[in-house]
Amino acid sequence: MPRPSFLDEIETRSGVTVSVCYQCCRCTNGCPVAEHMDIVPHRVIGYILSGEREKVVASASPWTCLQCATCSLRCPNGIDVARVFETLRQISAASGLAAKNDVRHFDDLIIDSVERHGRLAEMETIMRYRLSKRQFLKDAAMGLDMLKKGRIGLSSHDIRGRKQLGTIIRRMRGHGDR
Ligand code: SF4
Ligand code: SF4
Repeated sequence: MPRPSFLDEIETRSGVTVSVCYQCCRCTNGCPVAEHMDIVPHRVIGYILSGEREKVVASASPWTCLQCATCSLRCPNGIDVARVFETLRQISAASGLAAKNDVRHFDDLIIDSVERHGRLAEMETIMRYRLSKRQFLKDAAMGLDMLKKGRIGLSSHDIRGRKQLGTIIRRMRGHGDR
């Protein structure tokens, strides 16, 4: 069977030799968010090996990944799975498929907040997300509870140097790094 071009694309862009994977599942077994993924890590790698580009690039899994690198540390073949997931995010963003992805949308709102305030303004970000989804009261009880416990704040506190940070983020976005 010819080697899939998608496998070449991933190995070239990530610098990771994915082709040595023998599907042992250790990456998936150690992943703290595997149960929330539509395609678990070892299967993502498996689909890369078989060249199923569209399935992998359209998946929400790269956007669910926390980049904790547990999978990379657990892999007996030294495959940096976290780096592969990061590469998949870049490909997904460039393809336009990520625009339909809810995790990507929330991620963008977080980066917007950091660009404006220099840090995450939790309440503002959650409100913007809920408004965009037209889910005005969803999770309202949990939000109030978190407010009472001081887990999230009503107002944002801008950091010093937020303008410089905002400039860096805008430059990264302009260059398509996100
Ligand atoms: S731990 Fe490594 S070898 Fe095992 S399935 Fe995951 S990527 Fe493949
Ligand atoms: S880096 Fe991502 S895929 Fe790997 S274990 Fe952490 S959350 Fe899971």
